[in-house]
Amino acid sequence: IKGNGRNGFAFFDPSMAAQADERHRLEVDFRAGLARGEFELYYQPLVEAGTRRLRAMEALVRWHHPDHGLVAPDRFIAMAEDTGLVGALGEWILQTACAEAASWPDDVKIAVNISPVQFRKTNLLDVIMCALVDSGLPPERLEIEITERVLLEWEAEHLSTLHQLKTLGIAIALDDFGTGYSSLSYLTAFPFDKLKIDRCFTRDLLARDDCGAIVCAIVNLGRSLDMVTVAEGVETETQLQLLRAAGVDQVQGFLVGRPAPAAELGITMARDGAA
Ligand code: C2E
Ligand code: CA
Ligand code: CA
Ligand code: CA
Repeated sequence: IKGNGRNGFAFFDPSMAAQADERHRLEVDFRAGLARGEFELYYQPLVEAGTRRLRAMEALVRWHHPDHGLVAPDRFIAMAEDTGLVGALGEWILQTACAEAASWPDDVKIAVNISPVQFRKTNLLDVIMCALVDSGLPPERLEIEITERVLLEWEAEHLSTLHQLKTLGIAIALDDFGTGYSSLSYLTAFPFDKLKIDRCFTRDLLARDDCGAIVCAIVNLGRSLDMVTVAEGVETETQLQLLRAAGVDQVQGFLVGRPAPAAELGITMARDGAA
């Protein structure tokens, strides 16, 4: 631990200073890390609930920090959003995910998380178009995941971006559904193809009857609105059975597969496209 050489005023809260320091260091490291290629994408499978057939892989970013080892996104995405660095990170994520997915079988989609800030502050449409063109990935194989946070501050412009993406054939998923402040009117106002039921409902499925009721209600909602439903955080066979019985279309979770680097996925290239 380095000495900070602070000439502490009595009213100066050292913990706040320490936090600001820590934050600053994280930001400096993050910039350097981007330049040095310390980020990596892990992928986690989404499978059909009934057959367990692989339908998509979700890209989840990881940071190999030279001193702290593997850092999870919860520890740096917020900072990247506050500093605007999420634009550069998000671009790298889209480029990398699309390039990697281009070598997978045609019926496996790639799902990419889009931060609300990335949505508001960058030209998402351009960034996505570039990633598709550079990788040669057909737009139908890309799925973007957005959270309700995007919708909270939405403007007409966002709606038009979503519609343009959809027109291109890109699927749009609403992530962490059921946790936020979502008004159900969002569901008809925005062109969603998929609802990802938040992990908390899967977790409490056995313990709490109301979670089962909520999952069933979401599945019915999804059906009437022609949206695919996905349950996140499936860790046990029992959960899978219950979700299947509730009529969930797809599942994702440690039971089916943990997030892993591309090299460990064992997605065999069904066809060796271009050499
Ligand atoms: P998320 O999009 O809801 O991603 C699911 C998180 O749940 C992942 O955590 C995943 O590892 C974890 N998970 C998956 N299955 C299970 C399970 O069965 N049990 C439990 N307990 N956890 C499970 P991760 O990778 O740490 O990501 C956390 C969050 O960080 C993500 O939540 C997402 O909001 C954000 N994030 C991750 N990667 C990216 C990215 O590339 N871009 C952006 N903008 N955000 C990302
Ligand atoms: Ca997600
Ligand atoms: Ca989620
Ligand atoms: Ca989440």
